[in-house]
Amino acid sequence: MNLFPLFADLKGRPCLVVGGGEVARRKVDLLLKAGAQVTVNAPDFAAAITALAAAGRLRLQAGAFDPALVPQHWLVVAATSDGAVNRAVAAAAEAATRFCNVVDGPGDSSFISPSVVDRSPIIVAVSSGGESPVLARLVRQELERLLPARLGELAGWAGRWRTAVRARFPTVDDRRRFWERVLAGPLARHVLAGRTGDADTDMQSALADSGHATAGEAWLVGAGPGDPELLTLKGFQILQQAEVVLHDRLVSPGVLAYARRDAELIEVGKTGGGPSTSQATINELLVSRVRAGQRVCRLKGGDPFVFGRGGEEAAALAAAGLPFQVVPGITAALGCGAYAGIPVTHRGLATAVVLATGELAADSPAPDWPLLARPGSTAVIYMATRKLADVAASLIAAGRPAGTPAAVVAAGTLPSQQVVRATLGTLAAAVAHAGLTPPAVLIVGEVADLAATIGWFTPGTAAGCDNDPAPPSNPTGPGSPP
Ligand code: SAH
Repeated sequence: MNLFPLFADLKGRPCLVVGGGEVARRKVDLLLKAGAQVTVNAPDFAAAITALAAAGRLRLQAGAFDPALVPQHWLVVAATSDGAVNRAVAAAAEAATRFCNVVDGPGDSSFISPSVVDRSPIIVAVSSGGESPVLARLVRQELERLLPARLGELAGWAGRWRTAVRARFPTVDDRRRFWERVLAGPLARHVLAGRTGDADTDMQSALADSGHATAGEAWLVGAGPGDPELLTLKGFQILQQAEVVLHDRLVSPGVLAYARRDAELIEVGKTGGGPSTSQATINELLVSRVRAGQRVCRLKGGDPFVFGRGGEEAAALAAAGLPFQVVPGITAALGCGAYAGIPVTHRGLATAVVLATGELAADSPAPDWPLLARPGSTAVIYMATRKLADVAASLIAAGRPAGTPAAVVAAGTLPSQQVVRATLGTLAAAVAHAGLTPPAVLIVGEVADLAATIGWFTPGTAAGCDNDPAPPSNPTGPGSPP
């Protein structure tokens, strides 16, 4: 951290602005907004500054820069058009251990004014540490867009209810949970829409409702296939709120990093073949945490309802009479297809896509091989790597020609993504040769060849880079068969 962020209370505190022109006036305005007691030192003053002085808003000190003024002030701003004077002001401030900002002179400044989004009392300050003020401004614009115009009113409204909420909920945890619910829910939307009366009425009933603060809830959230940026906005928001995150081992660290700082992260490992928590144990954990009043995010790789046993977890919650919501995620088939340059349907090549699994539970029906082998369709088979040769042989036996294009995508959407393309007949050998490691999906169908022309993703560039395991020693890019 190059600069230490600081919100300074300047109310009634003397601050000095050296310079009397337009730039100085802008600084003066900001300081006055913060309630500072401003003195302007310059040989002559712009009309706006003289007018402020006439109105008693600031003091003028006419004449050349007077270093003796510096030690009497908390902050100094050098805003003249003369570089030498500005540097002299900075040097005097340094000697007097006063913070000094030199306009257009970040190198001479001991503080800078950040770009500000003002939704007082909420203030967001953005700085690039002088590296790129334009970028800081763009970030500020983005925040301007994101933050509701009435955010400040919301903060003020919440402030008025603080005492009542404190009286109603004695523990910090209960209060935090209550506020998070209120500020992320319909009450806050009332305030943001200017309907403060409605918000007050609802707040009264929320405080009277004894179950309000203790009701737990579960969200079954799809984390997407790997690239953390493929998480949905809704999934992100829930991760920011949940007190407990029960996650699969496949969920990438980049997604877990979005969890609230103080959230309890519990890995309920589920990887093909590896040791895993039994589904019954996961269901029990989920139910007991929600019953205890916690907000639980059950974070699953890809989509919770695609080979994720999310349905069973939802059923356990439903049977226990507990509230839950399901947030879809990008399933591996679609994430891998997109990042490998393989559209799962394509005009003239495939009009249907079937998602199937290569590992079957004991009580599941056998795969419908003729369905998976249907011409004009794409089959995406999850958990297929261990039985790749068997799966390919079964598809060929069911009528899919051995020459059908096929691909295996491993660690799809991650910087370590590997794609091996061949034909149904040769793929198993090609994959063994490339030494791919799970997780991987098998994509069978004419569409697999499109990777040669529309493969776009270069492994090693995904947003999750920092968190992904080391890149493979022999990376195989999209469209580059081994
Ligand atoms: N619910 C998940 C699937 C869980 S089953 C989803 O919707 O994607 C686990 C299987 O998903 C793995 O064995 C593998 O076949 C596939 N998979 C998950 N993430 C993957 C990734 N990044 N790349 C390739 N395959 C992946």
